[in-house]
Parts: sequence; structure tokens; C-alpha cells
Amino acid sequence: MFLQKSWRSFLDLLFPVFCFGCRKEGEFCCTACRRNIYLGGTVLSGEKLDRVIVAGDFDRGLIRDLLHQFKYNGIRSLSEILIENLPDWVERELKNHLDSLGLWSSVSIPMHWRRKAERGFNQSDLLAQEISKRWGLLYNSKILRKNRHTESQMTLDREGRLINLKNAFAVGVDAREIEGKNFLLVDDVYTTGTTLEECAGVLKFHGAASVIGLVLGKNRNGD
Ligand SMILES: [Zn+2]
Repeated sequence: MFLQKSWRSFLDLLFPVFCFGCRKEGEFCCTACRRNIYLGGTVLSGEKLDRVIVAGDFDRGLIRDLLHQFKYNGIRSLSEILIENLPDWVERELKNHLDSLGLWSSVSIPMHWRRKAERGFNQSDLLAQEISKRWGLLYNSKILRKNRHTESQMTLDREGRLINLKNAFAVGVDAREIEGKNFLLVDDVYTTGTTLEECAGVLKFHGAASVIGLVLGKNRNGD
């Protein structure tokens, strides 16, 4: 414990950490700025998804910056901050669903091994794990798997995204683990919702009772 602490202060001395919101030294997101991570946000209805809870808007609050640091600068510890500080209305919304009958599992959006090898981690996995810890949900990273590498969705319109993702996902566990169960699909960015819908479609096809999406930020200009 002591060693851990002194090692930490030694690292802090060498590489001081600054708040991504206000640049104050000490933490990646200080207590004051944690209140401004998520602004806006909404609940959407889906086609295969029963509901999608979007915690914040990309053009408001700190969510865009924090997700960028998390994904592209590999600051994995941000997953805890991002989940712990979900706004109260999101927690109430989640609680309403999770209190309903049946077991719930948190599920991440699978990433092709090639992309995962490039980035070193799947951001959706880390977020789904944090959610399962905080809400006591089951978690199995193999529930969904990605069959093939797909092009980046960034430059594609909705139609293009649908074609790009067609049959890209499959279940990675025995169908008995899906049938009649409830799933909370967790992802970082919502743009047109095609990825979430594809994944929800696969779960529903295998008999999932309900599938709710939880996304941290909504982007208007592509992800
Ligand atoms: Zn701050």
C-alpha cells in the first residue's frame, strides 16, 4: 500500500496529471468538472433496441474531450470516471429497467481483433465492465463477436453504414445464454445508431427478451 502510494507520488512528480476540463493539476477530471461531463442527453426509441439512453451531447459538456483521451490517448482509468459520474437521470432510467424481472448482462460492442490489436483495448469492453461492477450485472465479453473487419463508419451515411455492418456481428456463446435474457448494450459514441441496432438485432434473433442501449455521448458529425 505504502509502496504503491509513494510510487504514485513519484510518477505524479515526473508526469503531473491535469484536469481535461480546467487544467487544474491533480486529476484527469477534477471534482468540479465532473459535474460538467454530461450535458444534454436523451432517451431514444429503437427498432431492435427497446430503448437507447444517451447520457450527453458531444457539443456540450466534457464528454467529447474525455472520450477522445480515453480512446485515442489510452487513458483507461477514465472508464471509471465516465461511469461513476453518469447523471442522476441516467441512473434513474437504468434503475427502472434493471429492476424489472429477469437477469441483466452488460454487453460490449465487439471490436475486430485487428482494430483491437492496433488500439490495445476495446473501449466498449472497459465501459461495460465498469457498468457491470457498479450495477451488479453479469458480464461476459464473448456474448457478441465480430466476424470480420469493417471499414471505419466515419465517412459513411446511414445507408452505407447498414451495408458495411451487415452480418458483421454474431453471438459468441451458446444460444441458451441469450434466450429469454435481458441485455444492456454499452458503447461510447452514438451517431446513427446502426452499430447498436445491428448488435441488438443479433441478440433478439437469438431470443433475447429485452435489449437496452446505453451510450455515453451523441455525435452529430460522425464518429
Ligand atoms: Zn477541472
